Amino acid sequence: MAETTRLYYDDAYCADFTARVIAHGTVAGRPAVALDRSAFYPEGGGQPADRGTLNGLAVLDVQADPSTVWHLLARAEDLATLPIGAVVQGAIAWERRFDHMQQHCGQHLLTAAFLATSGLPTLAFHLSDGSVTIDLDTPALQPAQVRAAEELANRVVWECRPVEARFVTAAELARLPLRKPPQVDGPVRVVSVADFDYSACGGTHPHSTGGVGLISVLRWSRQRGGTRVEFACGGRALREVRRLAAAAAGAAASLSVGVDELPAAAERVVAAQKAMARELAVSQAALDASEALRCYAAALQRGPARVVRLIRADLPLARLRSLAQQIAAQPGGVALIGAPGTPAQLVVACAASSGCDARALLTTGLAMLEGRGGGTAQLAQGGGPRTERLEAALDAMLAALGG
Ligand SMILES: [Zn+2]
Repeated sequence: MAETTRLYYDDAYCADFTARVIAHGTVAGRPAVALDRSAFYPEGGGQPADRGTLNGLAVLDVQADPSTVWHLLARAEDLATLPIGAVVQGAIAWERRFDHMQQHCGQHLLTAAFLATSGLPTLAFHLSDGSVTIDLDTPALQPAQVRAAEELANRVVWECRPVEARFVTAAELARLPLRKPPQVDGPVRVVSVADFDYSACGGTHPHSTGGVGLISVLRWSRQRGGTRVEFACGGRALREVRRLAAAAAGAAASLSVGVDELPAAAERVVAAQKAMARELAVSQAALDASEALRCYAAALQRGPARVVRLIRADLPLARLRSLAQQIAAQPGGVALIGAPGTPAQLVVACAASSGCDARALLTTGLAMLEGRGGGTAQLAQGGGPRTERLEAALDAMLAALGG
C-alpha cells in the first residue's frame, strides 16, 4: 500500500521538499498523485488543505486516507509528467499555510482560555479563508467573559511559550490533562503549550505561541443553543485592524470629526435626521391639506357626493392616501386618485356624508386594471397590471357614481 511520511508532523515550517511519486489515483473525481513523503497538509481536524505546486503543477486540493496523502491535480495529462518513481519538487503556498497555523494555534489558546476563565468548553471549530470561529457551550456570553479569555490567551501568546507536537503512547496519554478525549485509535498526536493546553491534534502550529502574534475576538452571536465566537489571529488580526481603521477614518472624514468623536457625531446626525423627518411630515401634511382644498373646490357634484378625480405620478402612495383622506375630510368629499406605474395604483376615499363606499368603488376600478386590493368604506387601495387602462378605471368609478 502507498504510504506517505507526513513531513509537517515533525516540521510545520517545511515549505519546500523533494519526494518520489509512489501512486496515481482519482480522488473526488480529480487525478491525484501520492508521494513517499509530503509537507502538504491534507484537509482535516478543522484545518483546510494546503495549496502549492508539484514540479510547478498546481495542487488544487489535498486529501488523505489513514496511510496516504493525495495531491489533487487539474488534468489527467498532469499525471503523465509525474510518472511513478519520478522525483518531484514540492512547494507549499506558504502565506496561506502560515495563516492557517496562526489561526489554528490561536484557536487552541482561545479555547483553553475560555475554559480556564469561564469554564466554557468549545464544541466546534471552523476555519476558512473568510473566517475562524469556535462554538462555545453556552446560550449567553458576557463582554467581561470575552475580555477575560482574550486577555489570558494573548498573555500566553506574548510569553512565547513553546508549542510542541509529538505522538504519545497510551500510558503517557493517560497522564496528560487533555482538554477532551482523542477521537482516533492508535498512536495519538498531542499538541501542547507548556502549562496551558494539551490537545489531541493533527494540525500545524508555530514553534512558539509568539508566532500567533495577536488573538482578537471580533464578534459573537447565538448559534443553535450555543454561542459562536468569531476571532482573528496574527496577519488576519492586522488586516482587520487596518479595515476598521480605514472605515472609521472614512466615516470621520465624511462627518468632519476625529475618529474618537464618531459615536457622538453619528448620534447627532441621526437625531437631526429624525427631527427633519418630523418637520417634513408636518410640511407635507399642510401641503396635502391645501391641495385637497384646491381640488375639492373644483369637485364634480354627484348627488350628495363632491367627487375629485385625478392622476398623480409624482407622489408616493403614502402621500396619495394622505391627499385622498384630506379630500374625504370635506363635506361629501370623494377622492378617486390613480397613480401610473407597474402595477398602476388606485386610492379611493369617501366621506360618510357622501353616501359612497370606497371599497365598492375600488372594486369597479380594479376590474378594469385586473388587479387586487382592499380597505374600508372610508379608504381603499389597490393595484393591477393593466396600466394602460388607468384613465378608463377612474372613468368607470366616476360612472358608478352616476356619470
Ligand atoms: Zn488542533
